[in-house]
Amino acid sequence: MGEAKEECGIAAACVPEKENAAYYLYKMLLQEQNRGQLSAGITTFNTSKKKLLSTLRETGLVNEVFKVQNTAAFNGTMKKFFGSKGIGHLRYSTFGGNKKAFAQPFERKHGRKWKWFSFCFNGNIANFSELKKDLEKNQYHFVLDNDTELMMHFLARGCRGDSRPKIVDVFSSLHPALDGAYSIAFVNAEGETVVARDHLGFKPLVIGKKDGVIAAASESASLESIGIEKFETVKPGALIEMHNGCIEKKWFCKSQRKAHCMFEWVYFANIASEIEGVNVYNARYALGEELAKIETEKISEEHIVVPVPDTAKPAADALAFSLGAPSREGIIRNRYVGRTFIEGDNRFEKAREKYGINKKVVSGKKVILVEDSIVRGTTTKAIVKYIKETGKAKEVHVRVSCPPIRFPCFYGIDMSTFGEFIAAPKKGIALENIQVELSESELEKIRQHMGADSLAYQPIEGLVKGIGLETGSSDLCMACLNGRYPTSFGEKLEKTAWENYSKGETKRAYE
Ligand code: SF4
Repeated sequence: MGEAKEECGIAAACVPEKENAAYYLYKMLLQEQNRGQLSAGITTFNTSKKKLLSTLRETGLVNEVFKVQNTAAFNGTMKKFFGSKGIGHLRYSTFGGNKKAFAQPFERKHGRKWKWFSFCFNGNIANFSELKKDLEKNQYHFVLDNDTELMMHFLARGCRGDSRPKIVDVFSSLHPALDGAYSIAFVNAEGETVVARDHLGFKPLVIGKKDGVIAAASESASLESIGIEKFETVKPGALIEMHNGCIEKKWFCKSQRKAHCMFEWVYFANIASEIEGVNVYNARYALGEELAKIETEKISEEHIVVPVPDTAKPAADALAFSLGAPSREGIIRNRYVGRTFIEGDNRFEKAREKYGINKKVVSGKKVILVEDSIVRGTTTKAIVKYIKETGKAKEVHVRVSCPPIRFPCFYGIDMSTFGEFIAAPKKGIALENIQVELSESELEKIRQHMGADSLAYQPIEGLVKGIGLETGSSDLCMACLNGRYPTSFGEKLEKTAWENYSKGETKRAYE
């Protein structure tokens, strides 16, 4: 899909003396690069240095930030940031562009060691504007104007006073105020290293240990990359203290409900990861099997199934297998193109830069094109045109393994206005009257707009079944599909976003 962007991934490590947490963090961040490509950073703790906490944060990919191309520079970075504990972060966000100032971790220096800390987080605070106003009334000042800065003020507030507070109490003070998604990694100048996950568990977070190394990360694939094969999910509302060789679990808040972001399985997470006990690859494969159940196309020898690389491949393979049609790599992704610099909104040019069409594969074929999800639809439209015009395919039938995205997300995915969705509801109707499913005429308009010969989306039941949580839909956030927001500020921002959209404005409701 390549249209919605996850906003961040985190990691934390606590390693035996003589080993280097910076190296473990580097390796883990590399495995979750899919979660953010704008910047990378780490903070490490080292008692043998005057500067107890050292922070590296730069714009660029992990390998660029750690200067992997130059062995001497990489080793220099490892030496400079040598430490026994640390945290790491990857960022993607449209907010603040690619300025270094927005890169995390955020280090807050202080003369007292427990008040000197660094932290990073994955998510988004939905009630940022309200909380910011409250803090400003109390003479707090914002430089960057974002929710990371807000969280820094809250953490600093929790650490104030003359006696050292328990870390769990610092985090407990966050919970009643913050509405939104946050998985946090934190280290202070006393070496206290913790990870915590909001009470609904929007963003994934796992922890494990082996041979004296304790590590936590957004992606279980990150832990496996450093040899930790046994890991556990950090429960929503839990705070885990990472001591030398042992893990101590505490609760900083509790909730009966959960709201795991369904998009992690559909598109964002590393395919080798496991979230809430469900392997991401298996979930995507099962989504393809669910798609097969609603297929109406009569399969002939002319049909081939083609995934939009790379995230739709498991679903395409499953769909092809179920339908008895071959799965073919008709679109080749250029892995080395990086960010595209084509000016403006020329999606056709951008698609041509990012993808190559395997003409020999698609020419004269009836292509069943599988997408993991469609947000704006501009990339899919360009790909359909590309397969037809350049690839000379006979027909293109678009199949989407995620249901239509009709509502904004306020929890950390870069799609916060109604106006940006190709499946946006019609303006003018009452918010409560928006249907989750597209009407036949809406579906037809989207099909025509894309230039596809047919179009079908996964039904919500198929999505829930495909993800396959034991608890079904009750532990999933699907607010962008059904408008049922799991937090009160989500509901509030939805109303504002709908009003703005209805008035013709498309700016972010929470800005
Ligand atoms: S609204 Fe959608 S994208 Fe946002 S957290 Fe919920 S499921 Fe994920």
